[in-house]
Amino acid sequence: MNSHSERDLLLELFPETARREFGEGGTKKATLGLFPVGDGKLALVRGGRLVELHPVDAVGKNACHCDLCHTTRSRGDVGIYRVEAGVRRYRYVTLCLSTRHCQDRGGHTSLAQLADRLLSEA
Ligand SMILES: [Zn+2]
Repeated sequence: MNSHSERDLLLELFPETARREFGEGGTKKATLGLFPVGDGKLALVRGGRLVELHPVDAVGKNACHCDLCHTTRSRGDVGIYRVEAGVRRYRYVTLCLSTRHCQDRGGHTSLAQLADRLLSEA
């Protein structure tokens, strides 16, 4: 698994996203990123690892705090995502629906912290 690059992983699991993000030529980008991969799902990649974030329906209209850019937003502007953290164990994260802007606001450090949290062993 460690020999896999971010691009390889995405290409294998989400070929369309990989082509969109990296192009056919395959220029390597930073090994950290959050990518929409279709069906409302996101993939968080760090180094050779990838974790899938599955959207869940959450009720309520309270304001939500984004776990990446740490902005408080209205319920309609965020998604709640479930990440598998072991057998029948899940972590939940709240993220802005506008992934790219959210990443820009949060910056590299915040994304790295989120990746550490989600990729750490259960
Ligand atoms: Zn955000």
